[in-house]
Amino acid sequence: MKLSCRASLIKPSATLAITAKTKKLKSEGKNVVGFGAGEPDFDTPDYIKKAVKDALDKGQTKYTPVSGIDELKTAIAEKFSADYGVKYENSEIIVSCGGKHSLYNLFSAMLNDGDEIIVPSPYWVSYTEIIKLSGGVPVIADTSKNGFKFNLEIFKNRITAKTRGVIINSPSNPTGVMMDEKDIIEVADFAKKQGIYIITDDIYEKIIFDGKKFFNVLIADKSMKEYTIAVNAVSKTYSMTGFRIGYTAGPRDLIAAMNNIQSQSTSNPTTFAQYGALAALKGGYEFTDMMRGEFQKRRDYMLDFFEKNVKSMAPVKPDGAFYLFVDISKVFGKLKNSNGETINSSSEYCDYLLDKYLVAAVPGVEFGNDNFIRLSFATGLDVIIKGLNRIKESAASI
Ligand code: PMP
Ligand code: GLU
Repeated sequence: MKLSCRASLIKPSATLAITAKTKKLKSEGKNVVGFGAGEPDFDTPDYIKKAVKDALDKGQTKYTPVSGIDELKTAIAEKFSADYGVKYENSEIIVSCGGKHSLYNLFSAMLNDGDEIIVPSPYWVSYTEIIKLSGGVPVIADTSKNGFKFNLEIFKNRITAKTRGVIINSPSNPTGVMMDEKDIIEVADFAKKQGIYIITDDIYEKIIFDGKKFFNVLIADKSMKEYTIAVNAVSKTYSMTGFRIGYTAGPRDLIAAMNNIQSQSTSNPTTFAQYGALAALKGGYEFTDMMRGEFQKRRDYMLDFFEKNVKSMAPVKPDGAFYLFVDISKVFGKLKNSNGETINSSSEYCDYLLDKYLVAAVPGVEFGNDNFIRLSFATGLDVIIKGLNRIKESAASI
């Protein structure tokens, strides 16, 4: 069938594809170690599940307002006020079907054909595709020569007359690296003067290690509210990936346009899931802190393992999130797959790792850097140890 030009431009999500492939191999009885999934491996807390069950029992099974129930928007506004010191009215907030859907509605409402969004690289796989789906142009800004930290100089180098916005995702998926506060302040100041919007994707804000503090453009400067679109979700903070609840706060006219788009596409996000999100936002961070502690232990174990055992690979130390971005470029040209072909790219290495060692990882090329692979440590330490030993074996000949 003849497909739309837009659909033909879009790649499927590699992170979701690899997660699905791992699940399938496991269901076939294969002893696969999955480093693909970008979702916490902890069960959703009981008090959140209970809130959903109560909502169902109370008949919360019908449409809600398109942009979400008022109680949830108020709880989101309270969160923004407590965390960033910035006040939002409910009309400046919209709840959507996951952070991904928030970004989709945002770019659909914001971009005209050819408008540019600066995307610091390496980037989460969906940014570029969602921008393209909206007719926009993702302009990649490589941060690899600056320790994976976006800054004013890199920003200025990518600005053109068509720049409408820039994405900040700190801690980042896939590196886990956080931008320096000084750089966030400088980027914010400059963006405000140029009338460029900052899209701050703060989905990993509560998963930060070593006692470091989260920082974004709103914390840096309250007057940035006018130029900021804050995207977030309950997915990672409370291990609620399947609930599909994300939210956006931004200029009222933009939120109204997103509301129109949502009203003609999904309507409201699932009613009882909204009640789960409400309980989550009101329930504090005891569970999140427990998860964060576990993620930090796993990160430390993995960094130590690579340093001691796999000298040919070099991980980037993550400040947060639950991903290890590992430089594997030293193995290129030195390994051969089962067909006798030499491995020269991140996808060839990931294919080799899965076929020969039953380890699933995401090739860095999907995040815009072919010298790396991404290992998610949102999986138990026993599984991590097994997988790391297989990776060690895969590179033993080097
Ligand atoms: N932003 C980033 C950086 C992510 O890694 C994810 C992961 N899924 C999302 C947004 C969207 O999350 P979700 O749609 O599951 O809420
Ligand atoms: N964001 C997660 C990841 O990068 C989940 C999958 C997805 O939505 O891309 O793996």
